[in-house]
Amino acid sequence: MLTQAPRGTKDILPEEAVKWVFLENKFREICRRFSYREIRTPVFEHTELFRRGVGETTDIVEKEMYTFQDKSGRSITLKPEGTAPVARAYIEHKLYNQPLPVKLFYITPGFRYERPQAGRLREFHQFGVEAFGSQNPLLDAEVMALAMQFLKEIGLEDVVLHINSIGCKLCRQGYRKALKDFLVESRQKLCETCSSRLDRNPLRILDCKNHECIKVLEGAPIVLDYLCDECKSHFEMVKNALSLINIDYMVNSRIVRGLDYYTKTVFEIISDDLGAQSTVCGGGRYDDLIEECGGPPTPAAGFGMGIERLAAILEKNNLVELPEETADVFIATMKDEYLNTALKLLYDFREKGIAAETDYLKRSLKAQMKYADKILARFVLIIGEEEMNSGVLTVKDLTNGKQYKVDCKKIIDYISNRIRKGCGEYE
Ligand code: ATP
Ligand code: MG
Repeated sequence: MLTQAPRGTKDILPEEAVKWVFLENKFREICRRFSYREIRTPVFEHTELFRRGVGETTDIVEKEMYTFQDKSGRSITLKPEGTAPVARAYIEHKLYNQPLPVKLFYITPGFRYERPQAGRLREFHQFGVEAFGSQNPLLDAEVMALAMQFLKEIGLEDVVLHINSIGCKLCRQGYRKALKDFLVESRQKLCETCSSRLDRNPLRILDCKNHECIKVLEGAPIVLDYLCDECKSHFEMVKNALSLINIDYMVNSRIVRGLDYYTKTVFEIISDDLGAQSTVCGGGRYDDLIEECGGPPTPAAGFGMGIERLAAILEKNNLVELPEETADVFIATMKDEYLNTALKLLYDFREKGIAAETDYLKRSLKAQMKYADKILARFVLIIGEEEMNSGVLTVKDLTNGKQYKVDCKKIIDYISNRIRKGCGEYE
């Protein structure tokens, strides 16, 4: 037990961490281009926030939350998703007094007690954005465009944007009733979860992956047929905006999302590369959440995107060629008495922005050379008796095996010039 991480969690080792940094940098950069600013919220919140915000009848609240009492008896929950905490922060810090829309992004862990499998963990990570304070359908389109632009720029073009509208509180009532009436007759054919959902949250049945449930749903009423005029025209405008900015999409009336706070537009971005856990991104509009959580009426739209699923697709398709991390220069010493000189040089290099490394295990010169090779050092500097006496250092270029003599006073400039010029010869 001591040597095994808890079920459903995963270490990100250095080779993988560079991919995550690539993804994070790219996401930050795209958010900057779309004028979204970063927000960081705590890893845990009061349980009540998620009960209220995510919804009592959702899978997350019913069975997936990591909830515990802290030492003074408060009920605390590790955040299972990113939107409710950001909405809470928006209200707490009265961000609605800022020029609207307030556009925020985040990179966060999330915790859900689910059955771990490929693409499904108990601690996972998300990129997300939220735009508060505008009902404009252009904002629904913008959050989708941001997600699609990001996926395109990390080389992931084989994804499809599925969109739907689930209407507002009012028109959804009519649809709920129609769907329930349709399903009631086949109640015994539904899976256990869906059978109980039928009374509490029938829309969620559309999201079920059980084959029997999918079959029962054939010929079920479609939410788009029940939209009120306002929701209908909103959806039309979202589609027009997407077409105008050249974002391909397909309308999929089965997309309802797993969280209760959505209104009008909902969407998922689905990849064929992921097997069962194929949704990389899910989001939509949630015009009632802020008010539901105690803030002023505030329309909003956003998404959450699973980083582990992105990393898995990149891995599978070899999509990112990341340079291996290397030391620019390795300083090898022939005798212990040269260590002080080596140490001074080591820190001079580092001070000047050059990645420098030396030996900490008292290896022989031969073993130091081998080690330098293993850590993919570009150059090795050898400090021996001759070098100490003459003040001229031996530099070996490990990319071609050639050796050079360089005056120790010029060594920093020499190495930094060579690195900047790439692998070419030094004139
Ligand atoms: P799913 O249908 O796959 O369970 P969801 O509807 O529960 O997804 P959201 O709450 O919308 O997911 O979260 C947005 C994204 O976060 C998902 O599309 C997915 O990429 C990722 N995600 C959600 N739950 C997990 C998890 N347990 N492990 C890994 N990634 C996850
Ligand atoms: Mg889920």
